[in-house]
Amino acid sequence: TSDETQFQLLEHQVAGHGGVLSVGDGKVVAKPLVQREQEFYEASAQCAEFKAFIPEYYGTLQQQDGDDSTAGSSYICLENLVDGYEKPCILDVKIGTRIHDIDASPEKVARMIGKAQETTTGSLGVRICGMSVPGMTGQARDWFAKLTVETIRDAFAMYFSAAESVVSAEYRRFVIRQFILEVEDLAAVIRSVETRMYASSLLFVYDVSKARYEQFVSEGQCDKKNNNDNNNEEDTDDEEEESSDGLLDVKAIDFAHSHWTPGQGHDELYLFGLEKLVEILRGLLAEEPVAC
Ligand code: ADP
Ligand code: MN
Repeated sequence: TSDETQFQLLEHQVAGHGGVLSVGDGKVVAKPLVQREQEFYEASAQCAEFKAFIPEYYGTLQQQDGDDSTAGSSYICLENLVDGYEKPCILDVKIGTRIHDIDASPEKVARMIGKAQETTTGSLGVRICGMSVPGMTGQARDWFAKLTVETIRDAFAMYFSAAESVVSAEYRRFVIRQFILEVEDLAAVIRSVETRMYASSLLFVYDVSKARYEQFVSEGQCDKKNNNDNNNEEDTDDEEEESSDGLLDVKAIDFAHSHWTPGQGHDELYLFGLEKLVEILRGLLAEEPVAC
């Protein structure tokens, strides 16, 4: 790494252990290296379908610590999923009912099973770890930790409320629908691969920019996208990814406890979480008053 490269703490880190850096102009993030996560990213390069649902992986780097030239922290470099947004609304959702890794100590297994049971991880395989929306108060953080099967939808509703209050009710529906489609596409991929992903998250981001949405609608991409989904699933992948590009995105992240597991079939516990998540998102659409 060259001397002039700038590192800053990532402005929009909504959950996790901290220490995620933004590199240079902000197109890349550097996350403290965990060997298992590096291995998972490298193995994922072999599977194009899966790779489409994770950040681009650019390799590792060593950052010098202070003046001591022998000391360096290792990082993995990833695509910054929040780059290019005007006012990003970010949501980190942990997926899957199991959060302990295959080689966790008996103590850690017990602790993690306890944590799963105390949160919506155990019942839904869906847990809100963090969120950032314009105007959100600090109190929300404590609230996330205490969400139940009954109240989790309110937190999702809060996440999407900015789309309506800043842009329009139509935009809110658009964002939720796009995310449902994306999560369903990811679920289809998960059914077709042999992975085990424990304590991994989905990172959602959408922009609340009226100007950008209006431009998007005026370019007719909204209609194009809807037609594509109705007519054909196979040959529109590229367009589909481009269609809402820059307005919203969802990717799987956080693979410090993830593995490619040939011969073991697909990950039922992760898939269960994705299915529950789709139910929650569908519920948010269904509850809306009918416009007249
Ligand atoms: P941890 O192991 O600390 O939980 P995560 O991979 O979950 O690490 O990252 C923590 C947080 O950092 C996420 O909640 C998100 O806000 C941010 N983050 C992580 N990876 C990216 C990325 N590729 N692009 C943008 N933000 C990211
Ligand atoms: Mn995390």
